Order: sequence, then C-alpha cells, then structure tokens
Amino acid sequence: MAGKAFNPFEMAQAQFDKVAEQIGLDEGTRELLRNPLRQFHFSIPVRMDDGTVKVFQGFRVQHNDARGPSKGGIRFHPQETVDTVKALATWMTWKCAVVDIPLGGGKGGVICDPHNLSMREQEQICRGWVRQMAKNVGPLNDVPAPDVMTNSQHMLWMLDEYEQISGYKAPGFITGKPVGMGGSLGRTEATGYGVIYTVREALKEKNIDPATTTASFQGFGNVAQYAIRLYNELGGTVVAVSSWDQGDQTSYTFRKTVGVNIDELLAVTDRFGGIDKAKAKELGYEVLEGGAWIEQDVDILIPAALENQVTGETSKKISDKVKIVAEGANGPTTPEADVELERRGIFVVPDFLANAGGVTCSYFEQVQCNMNYFWTREEVLTKLDEKMTTAFKAVSELSRKKKLYMRDAAYAISINRVAQACKDRGWC
Ligand code: NAD
Repeated sequence: MAGKAFNPFEMAQAQFDKVAEQIGLDEGTRELLRNPLRQFHFSIPVRMDDGTVKVFQGFRVQHNDARGPSKGGIRFHPQETVDTVKALATWMTWKCAVVDIPLGGGKGGVICDPHNLSMREQEQICRGWVRQMAKNVGPLNDVPAPDVMTNSQHMLWMLDEYEQISGYKAPGFITGKPVGMGGSLGRTEATGYGVIYTVREALKEKNIDPATTTASFQGFGNVAQYAIRLYNELGGTVVAVSSWDQGDQTSYTFRKTVGVNIDELLAVTDRFGGIDKAKAKELGYEVLEGGAWIEQDVDILIPAALENQVTGETSKKISDKVKIVAEGANGPTTPEADVELERRGIFVVPDFLANAGGVTCSYFEQVQCNMNYFWTREEVLTKLDEKMTTAFKAVSELSRKKKLYMRDAAYAISINRVAQACKDRGWC
C-alpha cells in the first residue's frame, strides 16, 4: 500500500483474504464475504439556521446479516467516505461473530462536521438520514448505534423519526439511547471497559501484574476515557494520551510520567475529546507532537482514535519495552505494521475483539428493550466481562494452538462462524 492513498476497505479485504487462504475457504464464500451485501448512498437536504439549504451525503452499508440483523454505528465526520463505511461494516460482521452475538455487520455515516453545526441542524441531519433509510433499517433487519461524533441525543432523534414514520413504538430500532429512554446502563463505558478486560486477560496470560505496568493512548474520547478509568482501577499508570486540536487542525500528545490524572485532564477537555493545550500545560503536562504517543517507553499501547495510525513507518518507532498493543480504534494497524508487530513478538489484541464491548452492550440493550425490563449497571458489566473474556480466551487459545498471529486467529473464528451461517442458509 506504500505510496498509495490509504483505503480502509482494501485493508479489511487484505486481512480477510489472508485468513480465507489460511483456512481454505471456498471461492464462492470468499467472494460473498469480501464484499458487502448491500450499500446505500443518499442525499440529505437540510434547511440551515441561516435559511439556506445544504445537502449532506449519507451512507449505510450492510455487510452481512447471515447471523442476524445488521448492527453498527453512524459516524458524523467531514472526511467520511463510502470505503471507510464499507470497511467498518465489514469489521462489524467479524466483531459480532467473535463475541458470538446473533447480529451481522453494518455501518453508516454522514459527511459533516458537528463542530460547525447547531443542534437544530444536527437534528435535521439525523431525521433526514432516517427518512432516507426507513424502508431498509429496523429492529429486525438493521439496527444503528452511535459512533464517532454521534451520541445518545442523535439516537433519540433518529428513533423518534423512525417511530413517526412507522406509526408505532420501536425501541429496538436503535441502540445507544439515553438511559430512561430505552438505553442500557453501562453502554457509555462498555467499549473502553471491554478493551481493558482483554488487556487484563492478556497480562494474566503473561503473568504480569497490571499494577506494575504503564500505558500510552492515542485519543482521549469515549473509548480512551473509560479504558483509562478501568486500567487505573487495576493499578496501571497511563503516562501519555494524544488528542486532536480543532483550532490548530493537528494532534498533540500530553505526557505526565507520574501518571495522567483522568479527572484533572477531563476538566480541560471538550465534548469531542480535544484537550486544551494551554490549560494542560498549567496542570503540568508536557505537550509533545501528536505522533509521540507511539514512541513512549511503556508496556501497553492503546490506539483509540482512528484508523491507519500504526503503519509500516510508525510501528518502527515502538519501544522495545512494549509487550501489548490493544486496539480500541477500528482499523488502527495496517498490514505492513502487522508484519513488524508479529516479527517483534508484540501481543496484539485486534480491534474487532478489543473494542467489541460496545456492540455487545448494544446487544444487551436490545435484549432489555425486547423484555421491557432493565438490568442494573453491575449486571450489565458482569455479563459484558464474561462475553469479552470468553471471546478473548478462545482467540488466544487458537492463536497458541495453531501458532497464528492474534488478528489471524480472531479472523479464523469469525469467518468460520459467518461462513457456516451463510452455508446453513443455502447462500453458498
Ligand atoms: P471520540 O470521537 O469520542 O474520540 C476520538 C478521540 O480521538 C478524541 O479524543 C480526538 O481528539 C482524538 N483524535 C482524533 N484524531 C486524532 C489524531 N489524528 N491523533 C490523536 N487523536 C485524535 O471517539 P470514540 O468513540 O472514542 O472512538 C474512538 C475509536 O474507537 C474510533 O475508531 C471508533 O470507531 C472506535 N470505536 C468506538 C466505539 C464506541 O463505542 N465509542 C466502539 C467501537 C469502536
């Protein structure tokens, strides 16, 4: 991929092709699973606050629904592309399969920047997205959720629009709803906590006490914030985090070798996870260039921002001290970097396993909505821990038994499950 623009869908296909070959998947099933079943691209006209009409581009991709309704978030991002959405929908299929929940893979997006949109304009985008997709999504065929730069308020607007169109209450249409409006306790922290459940298990296998370890994060949004909280509870020390600076349009790394204090840093962070440089400096943080998070002398690296960050080039900067890379983000590591990480024997908890806590909790939200009976936070997190730990152990055991790289072992489990469902249905 060197010299070529990064294409996340090509990367998702390359990861799939490698393991499809390893497990001897037949040609027809390969062709079916390396492409999405359906993709939608549509226009969303919005009357802006100044009276003009602006047209936003929206997407939904349903990669595979052989194991159950498609499931996946809707991202609002100025650089959203159909190939990003296709890649993320594909990874959702593998993610739901690796934690063994009865759902398929989907993803949606809108090309827009919420930083520059009023709440009313964002509400119109949400409602417009649902109006365009209402016939092709729903509790029994495709269930959206929040993702980058969308939250529970966006989900509630989408649910309301869907219920207005369908004429009945359908809380199972969407997950990530506010608690009290069909949302599940524990959903906000689920992805970050899930990452740390897998880190805890990886450390256990290596006989390392988490309290003796250090970590560096890329990103300081939803995933990173809750991952840091739980990691701190286990006794671990986070020495650096990085975040995107909207004003400078670049990223910075914030370092405190005695350990980042999550509450202190949150107080100088905006709602998009952007840390205020000047205020962080006053709190005693060193402000380094954005890429510095990956060069830290730590035991654990947790990319939790966006795709294409651990590359052939940046992976060479990883310290010899690093033992684990746990991928909070989707698609942070390129195939070239995988070669480097595998060569160096760094233990990778791949994205669709490490960050599966979010979708697992979304599945719990659907179950609770269907029963109309809601669990306590402790019940949700206990069930989440069980699911994540079981999935981690299955992948790790296969990796050991067959001497497979962790990402390949996770793929092997997921592809086999989805391929079996397709075959059982008579699709291939
Ligand atoms: P978020 O929008 O809450 O936070 C993103 C963070 O990344 C922010 O702190 C932002 O400043 C930072 N960031 C953006 N660009 C950066 C850059 N170039 N360098 C350094 N930092 C940068 O998003 P999130 O919900 O925390 O999601 C993060 C990643 O995890 C995404 O890849 C997302 O798809 C994935 N993910 C999220 C969930 C979830 O439940 N939130 C579930 C699964 C996967």
